[in-house]
Amino acid sequence: MRDFTQDHRWLSINTATVRKQQGAEVPLARIIDQCAERGIRAISPWRDQVAAAGLDATARQLRAHGMELSGYCRGGFFPAADAAGLRAALDDNRRAIDEAKTLNAACLVLVVGALPGALDGTPHYTDLARARSEVVDGIAASLEYARQVGMPLAIEPLHPMQAADRACINTLEHALDICDALDPLATGATGDARQAALGVALDVYHVWWDPKLQQQIARAGKERLLAFHVCDWRLPTRDLLSDRGMMGDGVIELKKIRQWVEAAGFAGYSEVEIFSALDWWQRTGEETLDTCIERHRSVV
Ligand code: ZN
Repeated sequence: MRDFTQDHRWLSINTATVRKQQGAEVPLARIIDQCAERGIRAISPWRDQVAAAGLDATARQLRAHGMELSGYCRGGFFPAADAAGLRAALDDNRRAIDEAKTLNAACLVLVVGALPGALDGTPHYTDLARARSEVVDGIAASLEYARQVGMPLAIEPLHPMQAADRACINTLEHALDICDALDPLATGATGDARQAALGVALDVYHVWWDPKLQQQIARAGKERLLAFHVCDWRLPTRDLLSDRGMMGDGVIELKKIRQWVEAAGFAGYSEVEIFSALDWWQRTGEETLDTCIERHRSVV
């Protein structure tokens, strides 16, 4: 396993971690500068942040800092109430793939969606099997385009507590079953045979509890492990979405999971992704980033 204790060359920051500090939205350009000042070599930004900052301006700023994208957040949300909605989702995913390509991201992360409308409190239907089938169709259609432009797609299985509103793919096994069905040969999207066109983003917050985790990480292998997200599971968890813990402040055995991931061949960034309305978003971005660096070295 790689030694993270001496430096933080393999640390990436998901920009959601430091975007809402002390009640104010921090512009993406400022976050990129704060990361660059600390020798952080990679980030994973969100589409709305990039749209606000400008796609080309963001690409230029990243190049100027020599900074990489461990992923791009996010595509997905494929299910819809009707045919027009399904088409609109595919169009939007195509745009996300193009943006990811412009930013030279390692992958486009897919939060696949679930019951359409549920995020706003009123689902248009409650048939989860239908949502799952629309997700598979949506990934299949997007994969065709992603292959053409050479952008790997990373399905992020989400904790089952988010099965209604955010993602109806809820285990690593389920995600890998879909990868194997749609991309059976795990052929590369970028001409890089080590990476499949379709793989997974493994976020410890969503999968740490899974009794099949070690086995399914081994099954994924380096071809399908496209991203690795870290944070911690707080006791108690006070909010299902935005009460993630800083690494070391919860019960997730981070080193053990990283060992499994690296034994499978993953050699990319360890991306810190912390939604924390009650704690880390109350602090400054500087304090949060400095703590991410310290914990990356000590507990990841
Ligand atoms: Zn994640």
